[in-house]
Amino acid sequence: MLFPPLTRPRGPLRTLLTRLHPYRIPLTLLLLALLTEVYLHNSYYTIHHPARDLDVPFYTSCQEPDLSPSAPREAAAIVMLARNHEVEKALRTVISIEKHFNRWFHYPIVFLNDEDWDPEFVSTMNETVSGGAKFEVIPKEEWGFPANINQDRAREAINRQGQQGVLYGGLESYHHMCRFYSGKFYTLKALREYKWYWRIEPDVEFYCALTYDPFVEMAKHEKVYGFTVALPKEPATCPGLFRAVADWKEEQDYRTTELWKAMVSPSWLPWPIRKMMSGLGHRDGRGDGWNLCHYWSNFEIASLDFFRSNAYQDLFERLDERGGFYEERWGDAPVHSLALAMLLDSHKVHHFEDIGYRHDWYFQCPANAPGGQLLQSEVLGGPAFEVREEREDGIGCRCECDGSRTRNHASYCLNRLTQPNKSRRLGTLGWLRSWWA
Ligand code: GDP
Ligand code: MN
Repeated sequence: MLFPPLTRPRGPLRTLLTRLHPYRIPLTLLLLALLTEVYLHNSYYTIHHPARDLDVPFYTSCQEPDLSPSAPREAAAIVMLARNHEVEKALRTVISIEKHFNRWFHYPIVFLNDEDWDPEFVSTMNETVSGGAKFEVIPKEEWGFPANINQDRAREAINRQGQQGVLYGGLESYHHMCRFYSGKFYTLKALREYKWYWRIEPDVEFYCALTYDPFVEMAKHEKVYGFTVALPKEPATCPGLFRAVADWKEEQDYRTTELWKAMVSPSWLPWPIRKMMSGLGHRDGRGDGWNLCHYWSNFEIASLDFFRSNAYQDLFERLDERGGFYEERWGDAPVHSLALAMLLDSHKVHHFEDIGYRHDWYFQCPANAPGGQLLQSEVLGGPAFEVREEREDGIGCRCECDGSRTRNHASYCLNRLTQPNKSRRLGTLGWLRSWWA
């Protein structure tokens, strides 16, 4: 019995319990109802594991690249947004992607800038690329404040975020960049002829040879979006974003995908109290939270058509109307990620775990596949690679890392976002471990 009779009440708690004693039955029932409600609510967000893995690497060892003119290719481009002064870092990225991938596949690289290109940038890149380069200037209407925004208010908000120390929050150009990459990028005239893009940035390094065509594989396996690294977002940059996307999801009556569930941290509070929490940051209208996990968007291999679709562009328009690209500092990475989670089944998202990748200070680098390095291959050959040790569980091709550490950041978000694709459950110990790098 939860409210036992008390013969000698002492202290405020006992007084309270004595007062409640006559109502013990309805109170116990109420408590049970609340607990059941919390349990059912949380069960709704339980991720169902499939019978077999729904997303596996396209290949798990080196392949002989098909160099024949009739080899299948996709309408695809490698795309880099950059500033003229980033020429050195941009060059390092281009050298790296050419060495590890494009010297066999020769996809064009499209460089985008909101300003006119420096001739030095243009000539440096033209000398380095193997599949042609294009240098595009983003039209003014695609870069900058949207037409209907109060610019004075937006600038005030930007200054405020700068003073509050929000990461890049005080940089107007960074807000424009995030808005651009969230929506306008996909409808650029310069990209109209392509169906797929591979996003790169200055200061990127690749560690493994990519000896198959990722665009062809994405198309063949009906994937929409490919990523390498998943991380939690800095909370201060986007407190209202999850609410805005979740509200849109409600309005559009979109079903809850397993991937959406993977983004949600359901609240353990009972309904009325949970609902009251909905006004807090990173919560939806019901009071459940977002775990801040997102795909790190400086690397993306993805379908342009998906992001050009009405479903995505309408969401972008809504977010743009809400003003969060300036009132807050919504980044393109969480916008893409939440949109994907809202609109796609989890198996449409591919983890390129075979790609060795670094940007800023985060990397992933797989161990080399045992016996799969094609050491005799003339096409892959040459002194370009210093092949490191192979490991039993390796899946990489000629990776230039020792394979002992496949990533240098906590794998919680990676585990969380790939959970709906995995047949195997990660035990409690596995989840605890995933908080450490
Ligand atoms: P971070 O990765 O979030 O630290 O942001 P970055 O500074 O790397 O910016 C992301 C991408 O946008 C990079 O490719 C930058 O070169 C590019 N970028 C950022 N701001 C601007 C800008 O004002 N103009 C241009 N042309 N590119 C920008
Ligand atoms: Mn960057």
